[in-house]
Formats: sequence, structure tokens, C-alpha cells
Amino acid sequence: MVNERETVILWFKRDLRTNDHGPLASLANFPGTVIPLYVVEPEYWKQNDCSSMQWHFLRDSLRELNNELIKYGLPLVYRFGKATEVFEDIANRCNLKSVIAHEETGNEWTYKRDIEVKKWAENRNVIFKEHPTNGVFRKLNSRDGWKGKRARRMSKNLHEKPTKFGYRSNLEPGEIPITPIKFKNQNFTGNLKGGSVAAHEVLKSFIADRHKGYSKSISSPLTAEVHSSRLSAHLTWGTISSREIVHRIKAVRDHAHENPKLVNKGDLAAFCSRLAWRCHFIQKLEDQPSIEHACMHGAFEEVRPKHGNQNMLKAWSVGSTGFPMVDACMRFLKQNGWINFRMRAMLTSFASYNLWLDWREFGPHLARSFIDYEPGIHFSQLQMQSGVTGINTWRIYNPVKQSVDNDPEGIFIRRWVPELKNVQLNHIHEPWKMDVCTQKNNKCIIGEDYPEPIIDHQTSSREARLKLGQVAKSDGYAETKKKVLTKHGSRSSRRRSGKRNEPSKQLDLLKMDQIKNISKKH
Ligand SMILES: Cc1cc2nc3c(=O)[nH]c(=O)nc-3n(C[C@H](O)[C@H](O)[C@H](O)COP(=O)(O)OP(=O)(O)OC[C@H]3O[C@@H](n4cnc5c(N)ncnc54)[C@H](O)[C@@H]3O)c2cc1C
Repeated sequence: MVNERETVILWFKRDLRTNDHGPLASLANFPGTVIPLYVVEPEYWKQNDCSSMQWHFLRDSLRELNNELIKYGLPLVYRFGKATEVFEDIANRCNLKSVIAHEETGNEWTYKRDIEVKKWAENRNVIFKEHPTNGVFRKLNSRDGWKGKRARRMSKNLHEKPTKFGYRSNLEPGEIPITPIKFKNQNFTGNLKGGSVAAHEVLKSFIADRHKGYSKSISSPLTAEVHSSRLSAHLTWGTISSREIVHRIKAVRDHAHENPKLVNKGDLAAFCSRLAWRCHFIQKLEDQPSIEHACMHGAFEEVRPKHGNQNMLKAWSVGSTGFPMVDACMRFLKQNGWINFRMRAMLTSFASYNLWLDWREFGPHLARSFIDYEPGIHFSQLQMQSGVTGINTWRIYNPVKQSVDNDPEGIFIRRWVPELKNVQLNHIHEPWKMDVCTQKNNKCIIGEDYPEPIIDHQTSSREARLKLGQVAKSDGYAETKKKVLTKHGSRSSRRRSGKRNEPSKQLDLLKMDQIKNISKKH
């Protein structure tokens, strides 16, 4: 039976909250029927960047969103299948006028899905309205002035939660499936709880205490676990909006003088700059969706083989490279679905420079391991940390130095690589240097209990630099680099003064940075 009252679908995607939710707020006192909808799309979950850990977090979040919506008398309607088919089915049962949702900067699959939805809506005479998300702008002509635009958007008032937003439809709510597909690692759940309540608790504890020491603690996986915000998965799945976080932090900073001991303004400022990076990186994918598959600087397209050494890829992905810090980080990540930025960068650097693997080959493994998998950040960072953007320094992390700097006592290594738990501190970072007698005494035979290093770090780093250096000398390299910089480069305030804003000048500065940094020890 067709329900004649005007109907709107409120399509939830990666915005699983009711606070600061533009589409929801736009329906305040809507006189028609509202169908809050979530479509579980099995084809999406079959993509090689999706995983059971992400699904578990999402499922928690959906359950909680449903509880929130029930308070309005409008339970979340779950449907399983292809979005356009779900919309068609609903349109056949009611007087559907529009579908409203947030803009999504997702992977190629969701990008194409949204185009299909747009086409379907046009053919069906249904309005498809998308509201902007965070500081990411659709159809942006130029990066000039982006920072100010973002700041203005972030400082706008939060969307108010409506007290009422429409009538319930007569559709069956449906049930959220246990799993959308049979995942390979079905039991991997990670250790993060989804949902807006958890998001606000995490933010609260960060503001109350954990933020103190943020800047100096985010490099080590031991301290970052506590002192970094741990909000990334919540931001990815939209259980909290970044605007809400920015507003909360601003309020705390504005009142810091009332209780200066409770607040570290510098640490909060450093955190806010990371939130800005978030938008900056997602904007890159929004402006150029092809960076999911193509190097930002085309000259690097074939520098690495499409199919690299599979034994090395396997060893890296299971945490069995013979480099204790690399292995500890990979195992920690696989168990928790999260690791800090520095260690993500080290894992990427090791795979791309030392193992000479293409970012497109090993990237999906990382994406699946991240509960916070956010395509815009992910692809930009993968490319940046693999040295294929043309505009970023080639930063080859030395896993031994990272180990000594960030786990000086070997606590993290012993916890995550138990094969090394009896190894004395003076050997924990480079166990392959133990002689046979020491190996026996330390109950760790290299090559039996724990692998020998799969590569020589110095040699592979040198070779990587040489190969990339050759590419950087190729014809047309500088022109393309200029274009990449103009399209994606940040117009940071440091470079904004006077003539330094000119791309060519910036390029010179970058070149100098690059030369200086190539020999820097990471
Ligand atoms: C190869 C690689 C892949 C990455 N993939 C992702 C990803 O898929 N999803 C993701 O959210 N982050 C990704 N990052 C960025 C970063 O590692 C995580 O955002 C951060 O570790 C999340 O922990 P946190 O929330 O405690 O971070 P905090 O340090 O507390 O930062 C606050 C927020 O700022 C944003 N942020 C922090 N660092 C960065 C950064 N370098 N670039 C852009 N935004 C940043 C995140 O949204 C984060 O939640 C990646 C980094 C690398 C090197």
C-alpha cells in the first residue's frame, strides 16, 4: 500500500550520529515521513580495503544510532543490498520526494555508487541532496584560500539536534546482519568500541587528562596509545563530527586561564593542527579521485614492480621481517586495528623503500588493518610515505633508530614479539648481531626462533634513493611536480609571506629541503 504523505530518506553512511548532523537538522519539524536508512552493501564489503574489524566498529555504532533515533520514534531502517535497488523498492511503497545524505569522499567503489544513486534519483524525479562534511569542499577550483575557508566552516555554529523531525513510515525496520559477507579474518574485532557515546567518552578523557604530553608522546607506540586522541575511528565513521571536536577544544582553550594546570594549550593546538591535516588530506582525494590508483607524480608510476617479492610482502604483513620494531608494530596493529602515525609511516617506509613494494600492492593490507581507514588520508599518506608524490621529502625511516628512540627499554618489542622476550636490552633492537653463544643464552636462535632480517637496511635504502633520484632527473619531472604542488600543496603560513607563495619558489624550497633531508637520519 502506498503511503501518500511526502517522504524523505535520511541516508546514513559514514555519519553515524545525531549531534551536529546537517541532514538531520535540516529536517527539523518536517511535516512528512522520514525514513532514517542504513544500507548494508555486501559489494562494498567485498572490496580489498574492507575488513571485519571495520565492520564490528560500524555495527556497534549503528546499534547505538538506532537507540538514539528510537527516542524520536523513528528507528533506523536497515536494508541489505544495492543502494539503488533499496531506494527503488522504498520509492515503490511511498511518495518519495528526496534522499538526503552527507557528501562522502570515499574509495572508488562508494564514489561510483554515489554517481549511480544520483542517476537513479534523476530518472525517478527524486531530489538527491548532499550536505557538506567537515572542511572538505566539493568542486574546489583552487587550493588558494582553502585554509581560511575551512576555518570559517569549522567555526560555524554546530547543527542543533531537532526535537522532532517527521513521522514514522510503515516500513519494517529490518535487522542489522551479524556480518555483511564472510570475511577472511572473521574473528578480528579490534579493541575499539564504536558509537557516539564511546566517541564522547574518548574525547572527554583526552581533554581531561590525556592531551597533556600529546606533542612529545605521539611518536612512541607505547605513549601514543594513551596520549594521542584515539578519535580517528570515530571521525572516520562519523560517530562524532570534527567540528564538534574543534568547538569543544576551543572552549577548553578559551577557559584555560581559569585552571591553567588542567590544560596544555600547546598540546591542544598541536592536536587541532592534526585535525586540519585530516581535511587537507581528504581534500586531495576529493579533488583527484584517481590518486587511489595512480601516483600523484606520474614519473613514479612504474618505478616499483606492480608485483613485488611475495615472500617479503608476506613477511611484512605478518610481522616476521626480522626487524623487531617493524614486527612488533605490525602485530600490534593487527590485534588492535590502530597504531600511531609515526609507526604507520615506518611500516610504509619499510615496505616501500626497503622491500621495494608498490604502495598499491601493500596498501590494502594496511587499509584492512585500520579500523579508522579513511581513503583520503590513507592514499595520500601511502603515496607520501612511498615517495611518489613528487612534492614530499623521501623519508626513509631506519627501523633500528625508531626502535631505540621509541622503545628504548624494549618493552613494546617484548610484549608484541614474545620470541624476543628473553633477549637482553643491549641486543633487543638488533638481535641478529648476537653471536651463537649469546643467542643460546638469550633463548633465541636467529633463523629458528626469530627470523634473520629479510633485507639489509643500509643497502636497500641506498638503492631506493638511487632509483628515485633517477626518476627525479627525468624529462618533464619539474613541470609535473609544479602542477602537483599547485593542485595539492598546502599553502602554509610559513610560505605565505611575500613571494614565497609562488609555486616556483616553493619548489626551490622543497628541493632544498629534500636535499637536506635525504641525508637526515629518521
Ligand atoms: C600510511 C598511513 C596511512 C594512514 N591512514 C590513515 C587512515 O586510513 N585513517 C586515519 O584516520 N588516519 C590515517 N593515517 C594518519 C594517522 O596515522 C592517524 O590519523 C592517527 O594515527 C590516528 O590516531 P589518533 O586519532 O590518536 O590521532 P591524533 O594524533 O590524536 O590526531 C587527531 C586526528 O587528526 C587526524 N590525523 C592525525 N594525523 C594525521 C595525518 N598524518 N594525516 C591526516 N590526518 C591526521 C586524524 O583524524 C586523527 O584522528 C595514516 C598515516 C599513515 C602514515
